[in-house]
Amino acid sequence: MPGPIDYSKLRIIPDFDTREWWDGTRQHKYLVRQCKQCGHKWFPPTFPACGKCASMDIGWFATAGKGVLYSYVVVVQPIVGAFVGTVPYVVAIIELDDCKEADGAVTRVAGVLTNDESEVAIGLPCEVVYEETNDPKIVMPRWRISGSAEHSWKFRE
Ligand SMILES: [Zn+2]
Repeated sequence: MPGPIDYSKLRIIPDFDTREWWDGTRQHKYLVRQCKQCGHKWFPPTFPACGKCASMDIGWFATAGKGVLYSYVVVVQPIVGAFVGTVPYVVAIIELDDCKEADGAVTRVAGVLTNDESEVAIGLPCEVVYEETNDPKIVMPRWRISGSAEHSWKFRE
């Protein structure tokens, strides 16, 4: 298991575009943006218009926080002080199960896994978990492997 993240060394300041997203994580909801005109979903939430129809009439979609590991990288050199005691850790891209659209569009999010590299493979199911930080206004989503898959694939050295 990776070491803990030292959240006291991160300064997260929700802004106009992200305040509601951080409100969501505090309630253990993983939100993505959703267009109120065509239903398209996307992440991160900072882009203020729909990429499909250009509408700025946008809201939020509360995902179930479940997906499939699409890709990953193992971080061994911490760049930010908060992660000095965390390395090595895995950053994954997760394709959300309930954000697939009829035209094949998918929504992918990135996150730090709670699993070691030895437990990780592309194609495995993941689910979000929430970590309290030293700031009561900030609850951080992380991801963990939640099961097995018939077909999965790992990077080899
Ligand atoms: Zn749209």
